[in-house]
Amino acid sequence: MDCREFEAKLWAFLDGELDAGACAELRAHLEACPGCLDHYRFEDALRVFVRRCCRESVPETFRRRLFRLIAHLDE
Ligand SMILES: [Zn+2]
Repeated sequence: MDCREFEAKLWAFLDGELDAGACAELRAHLEACPGCLDHYRFEDALRVFVRRCCRESVPETFRRRLFRLIAHLDE
């Protein structure tokens, strides 16, 4: 699995929609790829935040913008 594939499956993974084999592949990628691990942690935290605050799905563009913003804070 590469980063692009990981990203494509990340939300399904977080929503528990992937089967055990696909989950294992994503976890293996997470252990090997710090960038995707950061992304995963961000998305996971964002999901909790969104569920708590507005209970509506956040547009993809907004999530990407927010992720970039937070990613820059670490630099
Ligand atoms: Zn990756």
